[in-house]
Formats: sequence, C-alpha cells, structure tokens
Amino acid sequence: MSHPLLQIKDLSVEFHTDGTVVQAVAGVDLEVHAGEIVAVVGESGSGKTVTAMSVLRLIREPPASVRAGTLAFRGQDLRSLSRRELRAIRGGPVGMIFQDPMTALNPVLSIGDQIAEAVQLHQAKRDRRAARARAVELLAMVGVPDPAHRARQYPHEFSGGMRQRAMIAMAIANDPDLIIADEPTTALDVTIQAQVLQLIQRAQRETGAATVLITHDLGIVAELADRVVVMYAGRVVETAGVLELFARPRHPYTLGLLGSLPRMDTEAERLDPIPGNPPNMADPPPGCPFHPRCAIARDNCRTDRPALLPIGDGRSSACHFHEELA
Ligand code: SF4
Repeated sequence: MSHPLLQIKDLSVEFHTDGTVVQAVAGVDLEVHAGEIVAVVGESGSGKTVTAMSVLRLIREPPASVRAGTLAFRGQDLRSLSRRELRAIRGGPVGMIFQDPMTALNPVLSIGDQIAEAVQLHQAKRDRRAARARAVELLAMVGVPDPAHRARQYPHEFSGGMRQRAMIAMAIANDPDLIIADEPTTALDVTIQAQVLQLIQRAQRETGAATVLITHDLGIVAELADRVVVMYAGRVVETAGVLELFARPRHPYTLGLLGSLPRMDTEAERLDPIPGNPPNMADPPPGCPFHPRCAIARDNCRTDRPALLPIGDGRSSACHFHEELA
C-alpha cells in the first residue's frame, strides 16, 4: 500500500475547564491515502470533529492539550510547523469545508474577494486581477449562477446552500491533496443537501483530493465514502470498507447506528435508536465505554476495555465479541 497522505497515530485530546478534564479523543489512529474518501462517523460528542480539527492544529491550547505519536501530512510532521507554515497548508494543499460557512467566511469582504485572497495566498504569481478572474471561474464551477455578479456580493446576500458552494470553491481553489469536510450539509435543507453532496463528490473527482468526511449521517456515508471509521466516546470502535460495514457490522455500536437508519426495503417504519446517551467524557464508564448501552454486554465488558484489533479483510473492531456479530 502507498505511503499515507495523512497519518495520525495515538492522538489524544483533553479539555481542561473549571478543574474538570474532558477526554474528548483517546488514542485515535487514522490513515488516509491519496484519492480515497474516508468517512468518520459517530454521534455528536464522539470526538470526530475534534480529531479532524487537531490535524490542522485548529484546537486552541490551552484549554485543550493535544498529544499524538504521529501527526503527519505528506510525511511532514504537522506538530513541528510554525503558524506561518500551518497557514500555508490550510486552504492550500488541505482544503476545509465547515458545517456553518458563516463562521468561516468574513462578513465584511465580498465572496469574490475572499476566494481571490485564498488564491493569492497560495499562488503568489497570480496578480489581483487574475485571482479575481479565478474566483469567478471557481464560483461558476460550483454552480453559483451569474458568478461575476455574485462574486461582488457579501456572505449575508448568499443563501445557506450558496454559501456552502462558496466554501467548496474556496476549499478547491488551490488544487488540494486533501479536503476535510466537517458535517458539510447538516445545516442545509434536504434538497440543497443532495446538491451540495453531489458537488463535493464532483470536486473530489476533479481535484483527485483525498477527503475526510465527518458526519453523523450514514446516508451520506453510503453515497460517498470508500472507507469508514466509526467513533464512540473519543475512540475508534470499528473501521471497514463502506460495503462491508453496511453489510456486516462488527461492533454493536455500528449495528445500532445502522438500526436507526430508515429502510426503504421493508414495511417497517419504526426506527430503533440506540437506547441511552453517549457517556459523560469527564467521567467515562470503566471497561468498554459502550457497555451501558450495549444489548450484548457481559460481565467482562464492564471491567476490560477492548482494544481496537484487526479482524481480517483490512477491518478492525474494538469489541470483545465481534465474532458473534459476524
Ligand atoms: Fe458491547 Fe462488550 Fe462489545 Fe463493548 S465489548 S461493544 S459492551 S459486547
């Protein structure tokens, strides 16, 4: 297998507030290879966004403390980079798409100026005029109608879906090797969601960029991902190719997530959400963190934490009883 484009080993992130330590991420390993789409899924609070944000050192330290055995992009140690060097990576070889583009866009700069700025920051040889022209071209590419006119407008003049298109234009402006998309469609209504997803898929195909797609929506995962990393309580609990994961989940949490999906192939309309709530990460349960919600938990689950281990076919599971699920 090729050398990974992004390599995370043993990532842990703690937040220290008011004398409390919240272990948001604990010992996460993640590898992304060139051109692949890896979905990181889990309920809110599972640590998926914190993991992705740690890659580009977007977690404020303090109050957080981020530790990792390896945190490398194209073989380069991201922890050793200066702020300037990190800025050169963000929006350049690594494009980012956030859930709420309003927080990522500057409200007092026109959309065209913001995209042009992103282009110039990473392609110094383009003058202002060429960067503006490229911004209009990018807006056209992501399906913004009348792009020359819209480029002169401000973020508040764009709808949610159009703002997300502008963010995607910015993310692909410098031909990235990696796109990190954090819940890119969660804030959008269903019709716009489908359009934005198609656009991300097209952007990924056209740039050939690997993509880390963070989502709680397994419908999106089924549509876009090659490989899936399931997170629960700050840990990876299962990894598998997308088809294998949907066909034969090997962790009860994954099974629960799939059980809460609406089915088109049965008459049953009932959804079976996973009972209970994710644990309080300031005081996680001993043993397997999923045991209070797990239908097949046994005594040792309450005391022995299962490690994430390979289970064949390039898959891994952190469940003492993954074989029973097979
Ligand atoms: Fe359930 Fe035990 Fe497996 Fe944890 S280790 S997921 S509690 S069966």
